[in-house]
Amino acid sequence: MKQLEADVIVVAAGLSGLAAAISAAENGCQVIAFEKSQGTGGAANMGMGPLAVGSPIQRQQMVTITPGEAFRKHMHFTHYRVNARLVRDYYHKSGDTIQWLMDMGVQFAGVQRAFAADEVTRPYADGEFTWHVVLPSDGSTPGPRSASAMTKAMTDYAEELGVEFIFETPVYKIIMEDGYAVGVLARNADGEEIEARASAVILATGGFGANPEMIKEETNYEFGKTIFNFAVPGMTGDGLRMAWEVGAGKVQPSMELMYQLPNNMEHFILDGAFRQPCLWVNRNGERFMPEDQIGNTTFTGNALATQPGMIGFAIFDTPLLNRYKRNGPDILSHVHPHDLYDQFDAAWDKDIAEGYESICEADTLEELAEKAGIDVDGFMAQIEEYNEMCDNGYDEVFEKNRMYMQPIRKGKFYCCRQNVGAYGSLGGILINHRTEVLDTDSKVIPGLYAVGVDACNIYGDSYPFILPGNTMGFCLNSGRIAGENVAAAIFG
Ligand SMILES: Cc1cc2nc3c(=O)[nH]c(=O)nc-3n(C[C@H](O)[C@H](O)[C@H](O)COP(=O)(O)OP(=O)(O)OC[C@H]3O[C@@H](n4cnc5c(N)ncnc54)[C@H](O)[C@@H]3O)c2cc1C
Repeated sequence: MKQLEADVIVVAAGLSGLAAAISAAENGCQVIAFEKSQGTGGAANMGMGPLAVGSPIQRQQMVTITPGEAFRKHMHFTHYRVNARLVRDYYHKSGDTIQWLMDMGVQFAGVQRAFAADEVTRPYADGEFTWHVVLPSDGSTPGPRSASAMTKAMTDYAEELGVEFIFETPVYKIIMEDGYAVGVLARNADGEEIEARASAVILATGGFGANPEMIKEETNYEFGKTIFNFAVPGMTGDGLRMAWEVGAGKVQPSMELMYQLPNNMEHFILDGAFRQPCLWVNRNGERFMPEDQIGNTTFTGNALATQPGMIGFAIFDTPLLNRYKRNGPDILSHVHPHDLYDQFDAAWDKDIAEGYESICEADTLEELAEKAGIDVDGFMAQIEEYNEMCDNGYDEVFEKNRMYMQPIRKGKFYCCRQNVGAYGSLGGILINHRTEVLDTDSKVIPGLYAVGVDACNIYGDSYPFILPGNTMGFCLNSGRIAGENVAAAIFG
């Protein structure tokens, strides 16, 4: 067995692992980071950017929210059911973390609400401007994967600081001696066993989004049936399993809920085109939320999860489609392109021809309901009520913004089945505000730390899109906090 030694072992080099490794190294530690995949960045490479409050970018854009305000908003949202001290420390550090990243060469395109729309309709009126969208390295318009420029800059800086990355080498066990975490066991791509010893171990393995059994066991969703989450390869819950094995306290993990089409990156235009306040119904044909709220993808995911079969249907007719083609989307997204409807016909025809099962079209409403699997009678009754309310210009049921009260009357009709989705899993390992892992009796397990989504237990039952960029924000800042505390514990 190969033997290695360092001050700190970081288990994984995704976003939180990178932040932890850099911060420990900046504070004088010799760091080894084991990474299961061939590269750094993990799921963060797919995203757009982190939350911060009180950053230099916000000051430039005259965004005035303070860390204290963000803390109170967060705690109100979670009903104080989460660790207030950890939440407080996270927000108070987050502004400085943007400067820290900029010093590494990360550039930001600016701060956004998660899914800003025009100021008149503001479906995201509750959202704060906290999402620091990373500028892609080629200076192009930000979109999915922009944040890979951030993880690349972090990796380069970590290497400059002397962090040793060991790739394709998953860690599978924490070594405990006399109640202390003193190292890890890992196995590289050639099957060689490695024992690495250190004064501290930081777990940062990104949750269990790619582990269907664990999703079922811990959250009761069925991957590919009731939930269509991003399953980034490698996120198999290793950190949670290893921590629980050595006696870590368990906080019941959840999924970071939103909604999306199955395989959505391959149907991206349609995925965006139906995220609109048109008519949304459940399998019984009944509306289930004010459609002007569907911009909050977490709330819509929650609402879908409470419907029969955990599905819903977004529907428009030809006049409404023509309106979108003329005016663009009612709800703008920073993720999907704004010229969605210029590309709609081509994307629709292709997916219909290929039999993509999430969509269907028909010339009559009865036929549409039948094809989609919606109760025909229930749907027709709903259509009658909805169209009448549109004609009257007022939604008596949910008070949807009247701008969106467009009747569904003229074929051809378009329908898209909507599913519960998730970015991945959230939480599981009990930590304190110093990111030290606690045992089932809430006592510190010396030498063991956990960061990132493995330990992100701060959202209560729902991801707080009101403070967008929150997962990357927590990952970066919990990583930084861990690195600093580990160094302080080692060097005093
Ligand atoms: C499509 C998409 C878009 C997103 N956009 C945003 C956004 O714009 N803003 C935002 O705030 N959040 C966003 N998120 C969420 C965010 O990217 C994640 O929450 C964040 O990257 C999690 O960081 P982490 O360090 O916990 O895990 P990750 O960054 O996922 O890293 C985990 C790492 O652990 C490694 N690993 C796993 N097991 C082992 C093991 N046994 N040994 C060694 N290594 C191991 C993995 O290979 C991986 O590299 C997005 C997520 C997705 C999927």
